[in-house]
Amino acid sequence: MVEGPVSEAKTVYIAIGSNVGEKLNNCRKAIDLINNSDGCTVRGISRFYRTEPVGVTAQDWYVNAVIHIETILGPHELLRCLLSIESDMGRVRREKWEARVIDLDILLYGNEIIRMGELTVPHPLMHQRRFVLMPMVQLNPGLIHPVLGKSMSELMDDLEIEGQAVVPLSDI
Ligand code: AMP
Repeated sequence: MVEGPVSEAKTVYIAIGSNVGEKLNNCRKAIDLINNSDGCTVRGISRFYRTEPVGVTAQDWYVNAVIHIETILGPHELLRCLLSIESDMGRVRREKWEARVIDLDILLYGNEIIRMGELTVPHPLMHQRRFVLMPMVQLNPGLIHPVLGKSMSELMDDLEIEGQAVVPLSDI
């Protein structure tokens, strides 16, 4: 798909995760690479959290964070940029839910609702994941999910805690 830069910068929330190698360094490196990408400026970084794997049991724990950026890239251009950072950092895609050096997901792209081929925004699982909502609440508790019409704090209150341990790294 051909997509030019958008006329107005958008605020975009991106989930960052790693569960292989130097996990915290991997997350920090990905954030630097995003900030150094043309058309992207990192505006805020949540705390880093140590989190229990969700959806699989036989995996090491993760480090997760959420950042918000300002970007003039369109949503598909931004996805391509994030996928190329993932592959530059050595991620090889084999199967869903596998361990990963780095995982970058677009959570929210302004208020837009996008369901186009390879891209779904808001990220379809974000409201079910404590490791996403906890940093989202830290960054912007009142931000409204454009599909569900609830704030990040309300979505967090709706979540079951069991099986989703999320502990700030600085508290360990
Ligand atoms: P995974 O890294 O396993 O979460 O899967 C990434 C793939 O999911 C990408 O290659 C995209 O094609 C697709 N995808 C769909 N929606 C999103 C989104 N909001 N953010 C990132 N990837 C997405």
